[in-house]
Amino acid sequence: MSDARVFAGGCLCGAVRFEVTAPTNWCAHCHCSLCRRAHGAAFVTWFGVARARFALRGGEAELIWYRSTPPARRGFCSRCGSTLFFASERWPEEIHIALAAMDGPIDREPAAHVYYDSHVPWVALGDSLPRRGGASGVEPVEPG
Ligand SMILES: [Zn+2]
Ligand SMILES: [Zn+2]
Repeated sequence: MSDARVFAGGCLCGAVRFEVTAPTNWCAHCHCSLCRRAHGAAFVTWFGVARARFALRGGEAELIWYRSTPPARRGFCSRCGSTLFFASERWPEEIHIALAAMDGPIDREPAAHVYYDSHVPWVALGDSLPRRGGASGVEPVEPG
């Protein structure tokens, strides 16, 4: 965790660069199948921040948005393929950012696993964070 107020991040090739001003709103590991495919990873650690606290500093031409479901779109770098952002009409005031794209720690740590019903069987988690799932992705579920 960091006490800094501004956190920078970017894609693998460096074309897309951005900054986030604290405070962020939340941070969680998402195990849904869309995140898994989009990022090529067992799960994706996201944090949410108000759109007014997010600023794109580079890569306007490289940043492409893919509409993954009717209300949601995912932002990635068209040069290097890094998956970076998620935005949805479900949370119009917020942007979700992949924590792994940040240059360092932000102002909070992951606090839960969401959409845990969809988790892969080939990764064993060692933490004691709450597991959530169900239709909304955030209802309490039994660890397993
Ligand atoms: Zn890139
Ligand atoms: Zn997800």
